[in-house]
Amino acid sequence: MTDHKQFRAIRGTRDILPPDSSLWNWFERTARGVFESFNFREIRTPIFELTDLFARAVGADTDIVGKEMFTFEDRGAGILDVTKFSLNLDSLAQLEEAMKRGELANSERNRTVVSELRMNTIELSEVTEKITSAIREGKIELIQQYLPQSNRLSEQCNTLRQLIQFGDVLSLRPEATASVVRAHIEHGMHNLPGNQKLYYVGPMFRRERPQKGRYRQFYQIGAEVLGPSDAPGIDAEVIEMLLVLFNRVGLTRTTLYVNSIGCKECRPKYVELLREELRKVKDRLGADSQRRIETNPLRVLDSKLPEEQEIIATLPRISDHLCDACREHFAKLKDELNLRGIAYQENWRLVRGLDYYTRTTFEVTSEGLGSQNAVCGGGRYDGLVELLGGPPTKGIGFAIGTDRAILSIQEGGHLPKLPGLDVFVAWMGAKCYTTAVGIARKLRDAGLAVELPAEEMKFKKSLGLADKLGARSALIIGEDEVASGTFTLKRLADSEQKKLTESELLIHLESERKGETLGRYA
Ligand code: ATP
Ligand code: MG
Repeated sequence: MTDHKQFRAIRGTRDILPPDSSLWNWFERTARGVFESFNFREIRTPIFELTDLFARAVGADTDIVGKEMFTFEDRGAGILDVTKFSLNLDSLAQLEEAMKRGELANSERNRTVVSELRMNTIELSEVTEKITSAIREGKIELIQQYLPQSNRLSEQCNTLRQLIQFGDVLSLRPEATASVVRAHIEHGMHNLPGNQKLYYVGPMFRRERPQKGRYRQFYQIGAEVLGPSDAPGIDAEVIEMLLVLFNRVGLTRTTLYVNSIGCKECRPKYVELLREELRKVKDRLGADSQRRIETNPLRVLDSKLPEEQEIIATLPRISDHLCDACREHFAKLKDELNLRGIAYQENWRLVRGLDYYTRTTFEVTSEGLGSQNAVCGGGRYDGLVELLGGPPTKGIGFAIGTDRAILSIQEGGHLPKLPGLDVFVAWMGAKCYTTAVGIARKLRDAGLAVELPAEEMKFKKSLGLADKLGARSALIIGEDEVASGTFTLKRLADSEQKKLTESELLIHLESERKGETLGRYA
């Protein structure tokens, strides 16, 4: 029996269909245009990397790395043949060597498994020896005594053996900054002149609870500046660029929040103070915040729990504890924002709970999105390049959540007028088909969107279909037209008809489209 199972998109993933895909393309195209006008250039990195890269960059104790990554084991480079691998001390030493050479994933799991295997194997060989001598001496009770132990040990060894990761442990990227920084180091981009200004566009993956504005495959457009300078003007320009984009796409009901979270000089002292204050109110906090007092007190400030808000409001604020250099950097950032006419709100609770984040953090929220209202998050990360093994380098960046930005544009109701179908070619009669094919090519070469039916239709049916497809005009080609060397162009909105020669037709259609839409490449 055939299985008529209907396949559906995986939970948390979505299909983006026309006409929404046109809106998406327009948004991404506009972003590219704006970013390139600020002299940013695109970087394309792979959508999967070693899990360790994200663990290191994003932080092993974050929700993203701890519970949200899609992680899988690669099949391995074939250097170690899993099927031929038999268990003894020699082969374990081989595994350890392979891990050192990088031929076998040098992961936490492999290190633990191999060391446990080593202990089990030694114990197993001792028991086996005892059994062998018991057999030699014919001591049946001893054999019976050792056998269960030997069985248990070999079972354990087999289970452990299955746990060896022969391939690399990889994850779909939950964000792209780690990859951009990895690429920057790998390609020695610090040797290039000036700051590297890079942007990326693409899908990210996080195993979160799907809901409106929160998906498991979602899209980001982000930008990063990496280089020797941490001038506050860079932070301000990055924010300006973001807002120019939001303005251009009509995303105007937004609020920009900024904060400074200090540097490695001043933040540790503030974090300690915060921890002390939090310990005093521990009993009144929820379980997550209680845990974070010890692991990462800054993240308590992130809490959205209504019952914690009043307590958090009384906690010490980082702005009162910044060192002179950080205070000056933040003051200059605000000057630079004012210089650009950018309105902002300070939000002392805007933290990024990771150690390498320094100074500037910012977020943009948009109205009409409910609780998933952050459309962009960003900040300075001066320590990240070094953390990933590169030379001292400053960095700042942001990531826009495209799904949410598009939702917000749709909810705002000010959708752009995007180019649709310009011309439907209505032809009848075999002789006219040749002319139809020829003119369709010319119109398409001129950049117009043209639909040419492959099968003959009565004019009435053709015009009906042209209307349903939303074509702006129908180009009528019948025997009269072919005989007179002209075309009849019918504007579908008001049924106005014109007789035009080929060159008139091209000029007419092009000027009409320019007037009606933003242009195909706006
Ligand atoms: P949130 O607090 O909403 O979970 P975040 O702090 O995890 O956001 P970032 O890692 O800063 O988000 O990513 C930048 C932007 O990417 C967010 O502001 C948001 O617009 C978008 N984003 C993050 N996670 C998702 C998701 N699962 N689905 C859709 N968009 C997302
Ligand atoms: Mg999140």
